[in-house]
Amino acid sequence: MSKLNPANPVADLHLHSHYSDGTYTPQTLVARALKTGLSCIALTDHDTLEGCAATQKLCEEAGIGFIAGVELTAYALGEEVHILGLHVNLDNEPFLEKMREFQEGRKNRIIEMVSLLNKEGVGLSVEEVLELAHHCSAPGRMHIAHALLRGKHCKSHDEAFSRYIGEGKVAWAPKVNCSIEAAVELLHGAGAAALVAHPGMQRDRAAVCEYAIEKGIDGFECYHPRHSNSTTRRLIELCQAHQLLISGGSDCHGVEERIYMGSIRLPIQYVEQLNQWVYSKNLKKA
Ligand SMILES: [Zn+2]
Ligand SMILES: [Zn+2]
Repeated sequence: MSKLNPANPVADLHLHSHYSDGTYTPQTLVARALKTGLSCIALTDHDTLEGCAATQKLCEEAGIGFIAGVELTAYALGEEVHILGLHVNLDNEPFLEKMREFQEGRKNRIIEMVSLLNKEGVGLSVEEVLELAHHCSAPGRMHIAHALLRGKHCKSHDEAFSRYIGEGKVAWAPKVNCSIEAAVELLHGAGAAALVAHPGMQRDRAAVCEYAIEKGIDGFECYHPRHSNSTTRRLIELCQAHQLLISGGSDCHGVEERIYMGSIRLPIQYVEQLNQWVYSKNLKKA
């Protein structure tokens, strides 16, 4: 338990760094966590574990709990569904191999989306996008949005998504296809718990949640800045009814975004339940 705020310890279990589409280095991430009074954080970059070892070390030095995580992309019922892995084993070679495969798919997707943008008359090059992703082996749409903004092809990130690269828009291309069950299996193989990230953002939340439960999901991210209070409450009830893990995080990508680290303050009891769950599951496996 952290010494930071012993009376009311809280966690933020959904954070991105510059190893995916965030802007923070591990140093900034941990400094901000300290400043915000968080007792535990999870780094959950898209399709990469690269930032985890450095962040873990800094958290240890700072006396903050750390959970190595990842955010995978799956497809279900015609929608993109993000799956968080929490407590991922950093040395699991089959998992790392799969991450390399996803990263390759991301680069091919950038090439495809830039070519679609060019067809729409937008003069953007793949190099301009990848230059903005130079820290990162898992480039994504956020980098295309930054490049569109920098090249003055649009006025905001929101416009980049709503006009060009949002799901189903003119320059959108899907990621490597991965089912929920494949993502769950992959995460379980690496010792992690698998939870649906921000389920409140799904077009058909109830159907996606039910489907994910059928496919063996371990829990849901109930607390997220884009969830209304009633959505959070319903998700917690769902988890309680099915004895699933409850998580929450800010999904902070850095300073430029409007969502700040610690804007979700997950009560530490949920972290303890998660830790216990992962511990006993891996004990059974060993
Ligand atoms: Zn997400
Ligand atoms: Zn995220």
